[in-house]
Order: sequence, then C-alpha cells, then structure tokens
Amino acid sequence: MESALILDRVEAFYGKTQALFGVSLRLEPGTITTLLGANGAGKTTTLRAISRTIRTQGNISIGGTSLANVRTEKTVRMGVAHVPDGRGTFTALTVEENLWLGAYPRHDRAEVRKDIELAYERFPKLGERREQQAGTLSGGEQQMLAISRALMLRPKIMLLDEPSFGLAPMIVTEILNVISEISRKDQLSVLLVEQNANLALSISKYAYVIESGEILLEGPSEEIANNDGVRKAYLGH
Ligand code: ATP
Repeated sequence: MESALILDRVEAFYGKTQALFGVSLRLEPGTITTLLGANGAGKTTTLRAISRTIRTQGNISIGGTSLANVRTEKTVRMGVAHVPDGRGTFTALTVEENLWLGAYPRHDRAEVRKDIELAYERFPKLGERREQQAGTLSGGEQQMLAISRALMLRPKIMLLDEPSFGLAPMIVTEILNVISEISRKDQLSVLLVEQNANLALSISKYAYVIESGEILLEGPSEEIANNDGVRKAYLGH
C-alpha cells in the first residue's frame, strides 16, 4: 500500500539555525505513528516541516505529490490537519463557531452540519458547551475542540502535537481512544508527538525516536517499548 506521507532526508531551518538533520519517516494509511523525543529534539519542528511553516530541504510527499513548492494553505486543502501544542482554538469564539471555522475550505454546508453533530457525539461535553466561548473551556475540552476542529477538514493526515499536555490521565485516554477509532474507521493517518511515551506507544503501530534533529531509532511500537535505551530514557523503568 502506498504511504500516506513520506519524509526523505528532511532538513529544517529557523533562520540560519538548523534544527533537523536528515529526518526520514513514513506514515501508513489508517495508522497512528508516534514520534518520541526529549525536549528540544525536533518533534514540533518535524510537524512544522510537514505543514510548511518552516524552511526545509529534502523531500516531503503526500500520496506521491511533493510538497516542495506547496504553502501551508495548500497542505490544508491536500488533507493535512495540524493540531499544534497550545491547541490554537479561537478563544473569543464559541465552540460551534470554532468548528465552522475548521471547515472553511468546504462548501458542503449540510455535510459540515452533520460533521459538527458528529463532533458533539464523539465528545458530548462539546455539545453541552456549543454556545460557550472556547477560552472558558477546561484544558481537556479545549483539546477536544482543537481535535474536532481539525477533523472538520475531513483530513487524510493529522499532526498531533502533545495532546496530553497538562491534562488529567482519564481525559487523555478518552481523547486518544477517539483518535484511535477515527484512524481505524476513516483511514486517518496520525503522526503523534507525545511526552507520555507509554500511552503513545500503546495506541500506535510504529514509532520513531528523534534526538538532536536526527532519527535515532525506529520500529514497531511494541519493539520500541521494549528497547532498553527507550525504557530508561522515556518510559521511566
Ligand atoms: P519540546 O517537546 O520541548 O517542544 P521538540 O522536540 O518539539 O521539543 P522543537 O521545538 O522542534 O523540539 O525544537 C528543535 C530545536 O529547534 C531546538 O533546539 C529549539 O531550540 C529550536 N527551535 C525551535 N523553535 C525555534 C524558533 N522559533 N527559532 C529558533 N529555534 C527554534
């Protein structure tokens, strides 16, 4: 099967400072892939390289189409949804307005309406708070909203940056269970950046470990979870 996303020896730069040094990775359709790494290793930068918000060299392609001359706006239309850390919801807008905004490239209003109802079914708390300003939601609800807004694009690829950050374990489990289900059912490929390595490896199929802007290790998540170095560095046992 053709990979949903391929990075081939990607380098990335903040001005003159290089942050990625030849990162290669693949996402398979309908699976979750974890990107593990310490603070400053280059996880967020890898997601930015894919959504074209940082200067890169090397090849990035989606379903065989190169992103070499593609801008962020176009990646969105090509089915890439980026859920950044810090979540990036519009705090002054209501939950429902945020969801409508997430669907901005779409013109099928009736289908958008259905997808909004689907978001409320997946995360009933969002449904209860549909008229509430996003800025007044709890951290967990804001994460649910950020993910739901990204899903309004009906993306093929989702880039998820630290969805568990600052949230209670039960909420994290609820959110990641929904992601797993959508990934399976809708053939969504997810690149999951997580500090919570145990959880990420338990729901992903394949994993990469990044250090100082380079991929150090890769393999099926089960193998990575049993790797001695990974266990000591990221799993705390
Ligand atoms: P964290 O979990 O702490 O967010 P990360 O693995 O996501 O870490 P990145 O944010 O990708 O790491 O950072 C990779 C490198 O790029 C680091 O050395 C960082 O200092 C540098 N960097 C990140 N953002 C910028 C920026 N806007 N300008 C300059 N350098 C940056």
